[in-house]
Amino acid sequence: MTNDNWYNLNLVEVLQRLETEAGVGLDAAEVERRLASYGPNELSAKNRQSPWQILWEQLTATVVVVLIVAAVISAILGEYQDAIAILAIVCFNALLGFRQEYQAERAIAALKKLAVPTVKVRRQGQVEQISARQLVPGDIVFLEAGNLVPADCRLLEAVNLRISEASLTGESEPTDKLAKDFTPQNPENLASQLQISNSSPNSPTPQPPLSLADRQNMAYMGTTITYGRALAVVTQTGMNTELGQIAQAIESIDREATPLQKRLDQLGWVLAIAILILVLVIFGLGLLRGEPIKLMFLMAVSLAVAAIPEGLPAVVTIALALGAARMLKQQALIRKLPAVETLGALTTICADKTGTLTQNRMSVTCLDTMGHQMDLASSQGHLALNPREFIPQYQPSPVGLLLTGAALCNDALLRSDPHQPDHFQAIGDPTETALVVAAANWGLVKTELAATFPRMAELPFNAERKRMTTLHQLPTLTNKIIPQLDWIEQWQLIFPDAPYIALTKGAVETLLPVCTQVWLDGKLTPLTNFWHQLISDRNDELAGKGIRVLGVAVRPLAQQFLADLPAQQLGDIIEQNLVFVGIIGMIDPPRPEVQEAVLICQQAGIRPVMITGDHPLTALHIATELGIDTSGNILTGQDLEKYSTQELENLVAKVSVYARVSPQHKLEIVRALQNCGQIVAMTGDGVNDAPALKKADIGVAMGITGTDVAKEAADMVLLDDNFATIVAATQEGRVIYDNVRKFIKYTLTGNCGELWVIILAPFWGMPLPLLPLQILWINLLADGLLALALGVEPAEPNIMSRLPHHPQESVFSRGVGRDIIWIGLLLGMVLLGVDYQYWSVGSPSWQTMVFSTLVFARMGLAQSMRSEKESIFRMSWLANLPLLAALILTFILQLGVVYLPFLQAIFKTTALSLSELGISLLLSSVVIWAMELDKWRQLTVDS
Ligand code: ADP
Ligand code: MG
Repeated sequence: MTNDNWYNLNLVEVLQRLETEAGVGLDAAEVERRLASYGPNELSAKNRQSPWQILWEQLTATVVVVLIVAAVISAILGEYQDAIAILAIVCFNALLGFRQEYQAERAIAALKKLAVPTVKVRRQGQVEQISARQLVPGDIVFLEAGNLVPADCRLLEAVNLRISEASLTGESEPTDKLAKDFTPQNPENLASQLQISNSSPNSPTPQPPLSLADRQNMAYMGTTITYGRALAVVTQTGMNTELGQIAQAIESIDREATPLQKRLDQLGWVLAIAILILVLVIFGLGLLRGEPIKLMFLMAVSLAVAAIPEGLPAVVTIALALGAARMLKQQALIRKLPAVETLGALTTICADKTGTLTQNRMSVTCLDTMGHQMDLASSQGHLALNPREFIPQYQPSPVGLLLTGAALCNDALLRSDPHQPDHFQAIGDPTETALVVAAANWGLVKTELAATFPRMAELPFNAERKRMTTLHQLPTLTNKIIPQLDWIEQWQLIFPDAPYIALTKGAVETLLPVCTQVWLDGKLTPLTNFWHQLISDRNDELAGKGIRVLGVAVRPLAQQFLADLPAQQLGDIIEQNLVFVGIIGMIDPPRPEVQEAVLICQQAGIRPVMITGDHPLTALHIATELGIDTSGNILTGQDLEKYSTQELENLVAKVSVYARVSPQHKLEIVRALQNCGQIVAMTGDGVNDAPALKKADIGVAMGITGTDVAKEAADMVLLDDNFATIVAATQEGRVIYDNVRKFIKYTLTGNCGELWVIILAPFWGMPLPLLPLQILWINLLADGLLALALGVEPAEPNIMSRLPHHPQESVFSRGVGRDIIWIGLLLGMVLLGVDYQYWSVGSPSWQTMVFSTLVFARMGLAQSMRSEKESIFRMSWLANLPLLAALILTFILQLGVVYLPFLQAIFKTTALSLSELGISLLLSSVVIWAMELDKWRQLTVDS
């Protein structure tokens, strides 16, 4: 099957070739077979490695090679023990590194799997939701606005379908798509008539090959649906798709080096070069002093291996990957690894109100039809199924029309529970499900309504227009079956020549300007200032209580009027001269955990900002309830448009609540905040949120309500849509940054001390204080075991009560550089003292003393450096079990090296007496006391 002729075939032929049926789909066995022959629907990503990874891998590989050469040379010189010991250490080191890398790799692979979007398919006649990876040619897929097209498809049905093909053709303007060979089953279906009026059915397809952009009846993998919906059949999957043929490598997880990694990479190089020069100096001086060249060679090699912090960039990758895995446990799915790092530096979190700060569990609490108010809270939303039975003087109520409009101009589906027939449940957007449930409780069951008023066309809700319209056919016979539909009689009396009705629902402010009349007790009245004021006041009153308010309006339509309507202009033509029916208020309680999360943010120097399309007063109420700062007042989308860039920057620095905003405003807000130097997270779910998500430092998409497009643009996906999850992830980001700093401080301090004693000892006339194997051993224990365990240190207690770090700050800032230098120097001096003390009196254990004291000191440093502020005596040893285990293991191994005869032979150690061991431990603690004293000093300075 070639790629380019699918658009050219007649639909019947397409389905025949693909051996599938639109109404049934493939069966499981066939799917299995096709999956086996075509492979999974994925672009096989080439394993891209960033330059620093390649560099460092080579460098570490060089280190290994050098060590192996050193081992071979040792062997040739007859030093078999040395040779074997070096090789063993090399192996252990490699093993340790591999284990870490492997864990990180697995964590990333798991994230990648989760990042694949799901698709609705029809298989064996059933609609199911599957991972896009499982698609095969011949699958029947449902596509809707916000989806990424999961594979190359031929369209079977399309309603108002528009697709942005920028990723494929570079054309940013979405193109209209049509199912050209689709013959409508129901000729009365206006939607299909409208769409077919743009093209003649079964028209002969043009002869010359069309460019991708012109193949109107195809949808291509990786393009995004911006509007409408469609049914399509998959023609090509995976690398056979158009995208697959041009894409070299597309990875859903971005592995580009993070700023911190880049800086550490540079630092690594600087240190490596500096250390190599030092090593050469030591080597030269040693030779001048007449040390054996073999010893000096091994010395130089070991020193270089030990002192060069080869693990530096790797530790960041590993910390990020494992951090991302931990975030996943807290429901934050990281799509781009650098986000983990940026999260730690966040200063502002802009969150959507609905669903992120609130529960998105709406329920209708009040109805208002031109001043007639009805409070549903008292009846818990359950109204009598037939009001006539319960209200003796029942009058045809405008509520019937209000709820008919609310339920029909609505995409939610009603599901009745077979066990509780009068208990209604709906699926779909929470705003809409609330309306459908309220209507059902009033006796207007959506399924019956939809059958009575067939939907002809629709204009979906979007966040810019803040309203939605559907067109329906009115029942020809006056329908007496549902008493709540008694408004139809009145309606048809007033509009005898209008067989169609347009139903609009939306924000009251966007509805009133397009209304000219009101529906008052079954009659029409002009929408005078009086009514206008009444409706607006009621809107504000409800909004002020934190209630989400929606208005409903209707309009009669004559048939002729509809016939020549092109789909795109439907909105402009229909949404005018409407009749306002009433308003519906619904509550959406705040998420209980958000209040605390907001508080945490404020303590952590992070400003929570609420963004909503709702009424300013609703926003204000909820913001106050959640503790979001409302002192800077509120800005609306209209306000935002008034201000200049400069004014906006001044404003966003203060204002934390934004209402009646549309997605473009979000982009403006992010931009202004960033210009003020803020590091911004922005949440979003819709197609139009994508630019703001891309622009934000951390784009956050909703996992449950979010569209594929928003997820694709985001750095992080909230699997539970919850604001508190962003805060938890931020904390995790800070922990990771802290731990990288601790790792750097720990390894560099230790290496500094080691270098000092090795460089300075000869100046005192002493022989080399440490032997090559001893150096490698220390490197394995300290930089391997201990340092890695330090990297998984849990959060410090003050982690969310201090300000975020500046993202550009040097890794040496805030005491790290200072500690490396002075603690390193102190360690060097202590070791030098030990060395001199024992060597000058001719003690045979002088070298073992230096060796052991260094190992013990590094154990102590690891423990002390777990916290920058907290005293070693107050930290819980059990909080970092890997470190505790590493400490115990290190201690036992070191004792083994000192006391076990065969290890003594290899490491040239002598057994220390108990008092020597005690002195070694005591002296090793000097650096710990110094660290602790410094923490204590800082504490007193701070307070
Ligand atoms: P939010 O940012 O709180 O999610 P939306 O942009 O979803 O706000 O909604 C903004 C306003 O649009 C709401 O106050 C409501 O009046 C109206 N609205 C919301 N959902 C719908 C819908 N499905 N149909 C019509 N109007 C809606
Ligand atoms: Mg919404």
